Amino acid sequence: MKQRKTKPDEFAALLSGSVRAKSRPEGLKGIWGVDHPHETGVGSRAALVDRDGIVNEMVYYPDPGVVDSPFTPRQFVLVEGAGEALREIMSAGYKLVLVSNQPGIAKKHMTMASFKKIQAKMHRLLKAEHVRLDGEYYCFHHPQARLAAYRADCSCRKPKQGMLLDAARDLGLDLARSVMIGDGLQDVLAGKRAGCRTVLVANLSGMLNDKMEELGARPDYVARSVREAAGIVKSMAPEAPSR
Ligand SMILES: [Mg+2]
Ligand SMILES: [Zn+2]
Repeated sequence: MKQRKTKPDEFAALLSGSVRAKSRPEGLKGIWGVDHPHETGVGSRAALVDRDGIVNEMVYYPDPGVVDSPFTPRQFVLVEGAGEALREIMSAGYKLVLVSNQPGIAKKHMTMASFKKIQAKMHRLLKAEHVRLDGEYYCFHHPQARLAAYRADCSCRKPKQGMLLDAARDLGLDLARSVMIGDGLQDVLAGKRAGCRTVLVANLSGMLNDKMEELGARPDYVARSVREAAGIVKSMAPEAPSR
């Protein structure tokens, strides 16, 4: 049954200053609760998931000596256990939303065409694992981009929370009941700023502790693997309704 849970003026109040004022019909639909009449809160629970290092493995480029995103489809491989972990999170009643910084095009490491091929491969691999993403948000900007078109100090690049707020508006998410999962402290910061709970996937070390201290980026939980992160996320929603 269709039912409006939020009036337009309340919807306007949900939009914070950093969110684009332009709203989309499907965003309204989500926030008004039409999509999820079985949910008790204003919005749905979601797992906001970083891509590189959580869904797929990072790549080491020995020549410049940096760990970075895959820039070819061939380099894109799923993290072991990621399919199963994401499936578990879905079945615990969470929407799955990818939120990923992808400055590789701005830095001329790849073209938009390569990015799309990589994305298509991700879709194929996730489909084979029976994982369905409810949304994908990418920030293609970089403040020092070589390509002028992407040179911007935007509000979407994590550690800023723009992509999470966009997802909340578009998909009708309750960020306070949602969780950000990432392998970087920029993910923790973006999650905290959006009012989500945060799970950092990392190995514990003194170096990590110093970095968390320095950035004020203390996650709610640290998991050693994506699999372990799924277990933590499941335990946050023991009463989860079925999707
Ligand atoms: Mg990452
Ligand atoms: Zn951006």
